[in-house]
Amino acid sequence: MKEWNEECAVVGVYNAHNASMLSYYSLFSMQHRGQEASGISASNGKKISTYKNNGLVTKVFNKTILEKLQGKSSIGHNRYSTAGEDSINDCQPIFAKYGLGEIAIAHNGNLTNAKEIRKSLISEGAIFQSHLDTENLVHLIARSQKNHLVDRIKDAIVKIKGAYALVFLSRTKMFVVRDKYGLRPLSLGKVKNFDGTIGYIVASESCAFDLIDAEYVRDVEPGEMLVFEGAYTDGNVTVQSIKIFPPTLSPCVFEYVYFARPDSKVFGKNVYEIRKQMGVELAKEHKIQADMVIPVPDSGVAAAIGYCRESGIPFELGIIRNHYVGRTFIEPTQSMRELKVKLKLNPIAELIAGKDLIVIDDSIVRGTTSKQIIKILKQAGARKIHLFISSPPTISPCFYGVDTPDKSQLICANHSLEEVRDFIGADSLFFLSLDGLKRSIHSKKNEAFCQACFDGHYIEELTGRED
Ligand code: AMP
Ligand code: SF4
Repeated sequence: MKEWNEECAVVGVYNAHNASMLSYYSLFSMQHRGQEASGISASNGKKISTYKNNGLVTKVFNKTILEKLQGKSSIGHNRYSTAGEDSINDCQPIFAKYGLGEIAIAHNGNLTNAKEIRKSLISEGAIFQSHLDTENLVHLIARSQKNHLVDRIKDAIVKIKGAYALVFLSRTKMFVVRDKYGLRPLSLGKVKNFDGTIGYIVASESCAFDLIDAEYVRDVEPGEMLVFEGAYTDGNVTVQSIKIFPPTLSPCVFEYVYFARPDSKVFGKNVYEIRKQMGVELAKEHKIQADMVIPVPDSGVAAAIGYCRESGIPFELGIIRNHYVGRTFIEPTQSMRELKVKLKLNPIAELIAGKDLIVIDDSIVRGTTSKQIIKILKQAGARKIHLFISSPPTISPCFYGVDTPDKSQLICANHSLEEVRDFIGADSLFFLSLDGLKRSIHSKKNEAFCQACFDGHYIEELTGRED
C-alpha cells in the first residue's frame, strides 16, 4: 500500500484576520510541492471547519468556500502523489473529534514505522479511514491519557519515526513539529494584520511568505515544537518553543537540487544561488567545447546560468516550456510520461540546427525525460548533445518524503554511465560529483545533509520503507 504524505506542502497561520485566505495564497505559491489535492482547515475558536478536494489549489477553492472557512487560525496542505485512488479521505488536513475537542493535522514527509504503528492500533480496535500514515497520529493523540493536547502530541511524536513537518490545529491553538533530522523544511514567519497586531505563519517554503507579505523569522528547528496560543483569549499571542529531541541534522539535499522553488530560502539558504553554484561546479569539473548552453526549463535554468558564467559559453533558451501542463512524474504509466514530455517542451529549431549543445538538467531518475529531450533536440537538427546533470546519479529511492521510484526503475542504479548515455542517446553525459554538490551548498566541514538517494547511505535509525 502506498503511503501518501510524500513531497507535500504544509502551511499554518495563527492570529490573522483572514487566516484561511492566507493559507490559500500560501498553498498557491507552493503548488509545485503537490498538485494532486489541496485542503484547508480553519478555526473560529469554537469549531474547526475543513474543506479539501482533488485538484490544483485554484480549482479546489473559490471565494464562497474560503468565506466559509472562518477564523483567525488555519492550516493547509497540498498533496503530491503519483498513483493510487483519488479518495478525498486521502487528502489533508485530517480532521477528528476526540476526548479534548477537535483537531486537524497536516503532514509533509514520510513515517518509516507507520505500518507497524497502524498494525498495533488496529489490533487494539482502531478503525482507519485513509491510507495516510498521518492518521496514526490522530489515534495516538486520542489514546494518550494526558490532560493537555501539547502533552498528547508529545506522546504521539515520540512514538513515530521518519521525516515530518507537522502542523496541528486545535480550536484555539496551533502546534508545529519538525523531525529531529530536519529532513523536510519548515520556516516560521510573521504577518502584520491591518490593525497592527502580529500573526504568525509556518510554511514548507519561504516563497509562501513573500506572496502574503510575511516576514521570514527563522526555520523551525529540527526536533522543535512550537506552540502558538492567545489568539482567542486576550489576543496576546505567545509562541513557546519546546525541544522534544536534540537535533541530529540531516536535511534533504534534494530540496536544493530539484524540489524547492528557487526563490525560497530552504534550510536557511536561497535555493537559486545554490543551484547556480551547482552549474559553476559542473563547469569546473567537466570542461567541453560547444556552441551554446541550453537549460531544460525550468529545472535546469539556474544551473545553466552558473555553467555559462564559469565556462564563458553563451546561454540560449533553446527549449520552450508550455507551463500549462502538469509535471511529467504525475502520470503512472511509461507511455503517458513520454507524451507529457512532448506536451511540455518544444525546441527552437532555427536556433539549434547544426549546433553542438550543452544541455543542462537537474537530475536523471528513470531516464525518460532526458531521452525524450535528446530525441526532440536531434529531430530539431542539433549536431551534438552533451547532457550535463547538476546532481550526482540517483541510485537509491527516498524513504523520507520525496517521491522516487523503486531501485529497479532508477536507471543509474542499474546501468553504467556508458549504458545510461547510450540509452538516452546523448553524445556525452556528465554528472556533478557529490563533493561538487556539497561545495555548491557551501556546506561547512561538519554540516550534515541527507544524500541517501545519491550515495545509498540512509539514516541509521530510519533504514527503509516498510512496504
Ligand atoms: P526521469 O525522466 O524519470 O529521469 O526524471 C527526471 C526528471 O524529472 C528531471 O527533469 C527532474 O527535473 C524531474 N524530477 C526529478 N525528481 C523528481 C521528483 N521526485 N518528482 C518529480 N519530478 C522529478
Ligand atoms: Fe532527500 Fe534524497 Fe534524503 Fe530523500 S534520500 S531525504 S530525496 S536527500
